Amino acid sequence: MKVVMAVGGNALLEKYDKGTAPEQIRRAEETAYKTIEIFRDNDVILTHGNGPQVGAIMLQNEYAASLTPPMPLDVCDAMSQGSIAYFLQTAFGKVLKEKKIEKNIAGVVTRVLVDKDDPAFKNPTKPVGKYYTREEASILERTYGYKLKEDSGRGYRRVVPSPMPKKIIELKIIKDILEKGDIPIAVGGGGIPVIETTDGLTGVEAVIDKDLASSLLAAEIDADIFIILTAVKAAFLNYGKPNQEKLGEISVEKLKKFMEEGHFGSGSMLPKVEAAIQFTEKTGRKSIITDASHLYDALKGNEGTIITL
Ligand code: ADP
Ligand code: MG
Repeated sequence: MKVVMAVGGNALLEKYDKGTAPEQIRRAEETAYKTIEIFRDNDVILTHGNGPQVGAIMLQNEYAASLTPPMPLDVCDAMSQGSIAYFLQTAFGKVLKEKKIEKNIAGVVTRVLVDKDDPAFKNPTKPVGKYYTREEASILERTYGYKLKEDSGRGYRRVVPSPMPKKIIELKIIKDILEKGDIPIAVGGGGIPVIETTDGLTGVEAVIDKDLASSLLAAEIDADIFIILTAVKAAFLNYGKPNQEKLGEISVEKLKKFMEEGHFGSGSMLPKVEAAIQFTEKTGRKSIITDASHLYDALKGNEGTIITL
């Protein structure tokens, strides 16, 4: 089976983590132990988010600006691809070896084409970085002109533009690695957004949603299944309320209805649901939304949210 498996940026760095390197490698290792069997007999592309990490890199750049030039957001995206791929290579590499799965794993710095007129550039929605209290958020808005929004009841986070992914520039190289039997890590953090200019491809300041970019990749490589691993075991109706209800196997049509009713957090669960719908609609194949602990059960059809045509 050809598989695209997306892991959340929050799966490498949880809400109360400090975000140290050993911590992120340890989290990646936890994810590796829970999911490693999928790599044994399948061709898997691993993709990942970068919300918490790219936010941290932006802060590091801004606070050190008097000492060294701060990098624009597209370069911060590239930095996050590099460091997260390194964490994943370290963790999955170790567990693959331990489980005697003879495959190599390596990150591909991936650029993704976006439309320069994408309305997202005027309306930032993608949460990145740390969580702040309401008071901290208003101070940051006043002092630095950041835009912050509430993120799924977890606190306030900075938001950046998140344009739609149109085309994966490094697609052929990703496919080549997969066809050789190895494991590419690709479209990290949704990919580095680039636009076409008379000068060639040029980076732009944004963070593409990794779920939507992974969905595009899954359709482009003709994957048999698209898996989104996140912090929750499934998508829920009335999430976080006393009457919340887990969604199991569900058709695209029904899921669209719930989406329109506003059940899924924008910038968090909503892009996953959209990404799953896009893949399943384009290919007629299954998408799964679950967490690493429930992956094997979800593959058997017993857990997670399973989206079908
Ligand atoms: P990732 O890093 O995996 O992309 P996100 O934080 O972006 O994770 O999205 C997953 C989060 O979406 C969950 O942890 C949960 O807090 C939030 N969420 C919002 N709406 C829902 C919903 N309807 N069902 C489940 N989770 C939801
Ligand atoms: Mg996310």
